[in-house]
Amino acid sequence: MKKVHNFTAGPCALPQQAIDNAIEALKDFKGTGIPVISISHRTKEWESVMDECRSLWKELLNIPDTHEVVFLGGGASLGFLYVAMNFLENKAAYLETGVWAKKALKEAKGLGNAYAIASSADTVYNYIPKGFEIPSDLDYLHVTTNNTIYGTELHEDLDSPVPLIADMSSDIMSRPVDVSKYAMIYGGAQKNVGPAGVAFFIVKKDLLGKVSRYIPTMLNLQTHIDGGSMFNTPPVFSIFVMNETLKWLKEQGGIEAIQKVNKAKAELLYGEIDRNSMFRGTAAVEDRSLMNVCFVMAEGKETLQDEFMAFAKSKGMTGIKGHRSVGGFRASIYNACPMESVQALVDCMKEFEQLHK
Ligand SMILES: *Cc1c(COP(=O)(O)O)cnc(C)c1O
Repeated sequence: MKKVHNFTAGPCALPQQAIDNAIEALKDFKGTGIPVISISHRTKEWESVMDECRSLWKELLNIPDTHEVVFLGGGASLGFLYVAMNFLENKAAYLETGVWAKKALKEAKGLGNAYAIASSADTVYNYIPKGFEIPSDLDYLHVTTNNTIYGTELHEDLDSPVPLIADMSSDIMSRPVDVSKYAMIYGGAQKNVGPAGVAFFIVKKDLLGKVSRYIPTMLNLQTHIDGGSMFNTPPVFSIFVMNETLKWLKEQGGIEAIQKVNKAKAELLYGEIDRNSMFRGTAAVEDRSLMNVCFVMAEGKETLQDEFMAFAKSKGMTGIKGHRSVGGFRASIYNACPMESVQALVDCMKEFEQLHK
């Protein structure tokens, strides 16, 4: 197979071990003689995967007993609706740090009173607004901890006087999180914990059941907590691969260990962006994401953009095209993106600079 360095934003690089084990399970799931995509989800072999996956989530993220984790289809985008359906009664505030945050807010507005408490839309979301007052009468405050498109990240768990809900699609399991500070953490698996097709919801159980609206059965998080994520047929294969990805993460030493690697990868790449005369970063330095590194050609070098893209491609880099709203480049360096790939990109940037000396 061709050697590539995969920097796509999601779906994205997954641990090779998880992929190899998935291939094996497609042939024979746990010695049953049945492919994992053909096994009933009501078998003990499947239930053991489900149990293992749930336990790994709890262990790796240190999830307290007050919270439960459920796995559902529909992605983070359906999660936007789950949030509003299950938690919005009177009023909710959203920190508008990008398009995903805006989409989350839209779903809440459709169901009730919700507004942006602060926004960085004025500068194409290149920073995280700070210093805003959080009113104490909100049902919840919603944040997007990592803004995949713009490469900004909320580096700590906010202190909030009201229930805090976070879309952590693109930085979940990349750093330790104090789960006890959140009413809910949710996201799509396909950025850092698995393939597309499954989303995770870590829910503070005693906060459910407080809204007066009728919640359709499938949109009611209680349904899925009670059903152990198997009220209806779960996305079996996606959960299988997610479980394998978490097993790999545990073998790497867990979240604290992977955070060290993530920091080293990000430092290497941002260091080169700042040093290299051909490029400049787009996100405010203090808010730079450790997962999505956004950069553009430096002033006066804009016409070289296509040339660098082609050059990088010839060196095996893939998925570095920036989102159309930001332009330039974006390297997504999630947990499973190896240091070797980041080094290869950095070498490529250095070489490109030399070529244009
Ligand atoms: C990718 C992404 C989403 C959307 O996820 P889907 O699973 O495709 O719905 C939402 N929020 C963030 C922060 C994302 O990165």
